[in-house]
Amino acid sequence: MKINAKRLSSHFGEMSEIGKIGETGTCRPAHSKEEKQAFELASSWMQSAGMQTHIDNFGNLIGRLEGSEPDLPVLMLGSHLDSQPYGGRFDGVAGVLCAIEAITTLTENGIKPRRSIEIVSFADEEGWRFKKGLFGSRGILGKLEDGELQRTDHDGITREKALTDFGCDITAFANSQYAPGSIYCFLELHIEQGPILDWGNKPIGIVTGIAGPLWLTVKLKGMAGHTGSVPMHLRQDALLGAARIIVGLNDIVTQIPGAPTVGTVATIDVFPASRNIIAEEVSFTLDLRDIDLDRRHAYEKQVREMIAATAQKHKLTYEIAEDTNSEPRYCATWIKDIIKQECVTLGVDAPELMSGPFHDALALSYACDYGMIFIRCKDGVSHNPLEYSTDEDLALGTEILYGTVLKVLDKE
Ligand SMILES: [Zn+2]
Repeated sequence: MKINAKRLSSHFGEMSEIGKIGETGTCRPAHSKEEKQAFELASSWMQSAGMQTHIDNFGNLIGRLEGSEPDLPVLMLGSHLDSQPYGGRFDGVAGVLCAIEAITTLTENGIKPRRSIEIVSFADEEGWRFKKGLFGSRGILGKLEDGELQRTDHDGITREKALTDFGCDITAFANSQYAPGSIYCFLELHIEQGPILDWGNKPIGIVTGIAGPLWLTVKLKGMAGHTGSVPMHLRQDALLGAARIIVGLNDIVTQIPGAPTVGTVATIDVFPASRNIIAEEVSFTLDLRDIDLDRRHAYEKQVREMIAATAQKHKLTYEIAEDTNSEPRYCATWIKDIIKQECVTLGVDAPELMSGPFHDALALSYACDYGMIFIRCKDGVSHNPLEYSTDEDLALGTEILYGTVLKVLDKE
C-alpha cells in the first residue's frame, strides 16, 4: 500500500465526532455550524497535503493543489460532508477523506502535477433540509433554479439566510462558478449504499452510471371537520387520499417482479395535525428511480393518473411540483478503464454496477467526464447510523483512487 491506511482511519474517527448522534450516527445539516466544523477539520488536512483552501459562495469547501501549469483544466475530486438528519459516518465523507489521503500521498511522494488538483466538499448534497439536493455541485456550474434561495427548512429559515449566516456572499455567485471546459474530469469515491457488493463479497465496485431520480412534491387539499361528527361519506380527508397514493405508488413500481425500479414516499406533512380534526391539507415527497428512462417515464404517467383519480374519488384538489428530474448519466469509458486497470494491478475483482442513489458526480456529469469508485458497505445499509464500511475496504478504495489520479495526471 502506498497510502497511509492508519492516518485514513484516524481521519474517519475524528470526522465522526462532529455532529455525532448516538454511538455511530451523524447529523450534519447543510450550511450548519456542524458542517462548518467539519470543513475546518478537513481544511487542516488539505493544508497538510499542500493545498490552499477556501469556502466559496455556494458553501462548498475547496482545497486546491496548484499545478505547474495552472491554466490547464483542473482534475477535481470530492463528495460531501453534510449528512442526513439520521445518517452514518461514511456517506459523502468517504469521497472527501479518501481524496485527501490520495492527494496527501501524492505530495508526500514529491509528485508535482502539471494540472492543478481540487478536492471539493460540496454543499448540501443530501437535499433534506431544503428538499433539493446537489446544491453546491449545481451551483458551481451555474445550474441553480429560480426560487431556490427562497426554499425554507423545517424552521422557516430560507436557503438565502442559511448561506449568508454560513459566510457566503449570495450576490457574488458568479465568482464561484467554473467556466465551461475548466474542469478536466471528476472522480468520486462513495460507499455503495446498496447491498450488491456486500452480497457478492466484493470490496470495490466500478460505477457505470447514475440513475437520476424524479422527485415530486404532492399537495392534497380537502376539508377540515370534526372527526366525531362529519359522516364518513361527506368527508374530504386529505390524509386518506395520501394513504391511497402511497400504496398506489408501491403497486406501480412493483408491477414487474425483479426490476430495479424503486418508488418511495418518505416524508409527509399533515395540517392541522390534531387528532380530532379531519386532515385538511397533506403534502408529501415522492421519489421515483429507474435506470431505464422509458420505463420511468411510463410509471410517472401512471403515478400522475393515479393521483388524479384518487383526488377525484376523495373530493380533493391537488398540486404536483417537480423538484428534481434527472436522466441517467453514464461514466466515461476511459476513466472506467483506468479504474479497472488499477483494480487488476492490485488483484481486486471489481464488478461494474449502476448507482441508484444520485451523487455530486451527477451534477458534474453535465460539465466533464466522470468516474466513480464504490466501496462495499455492510448489508447495503445507508442513511442510517448503522452504515458501515471497513477500514480495509476504504484503504483499498483509496489506493485505487490514488492510482487513478496518477494515471489521469499522466494522460497527454
Ligand atoms: Zn452521499
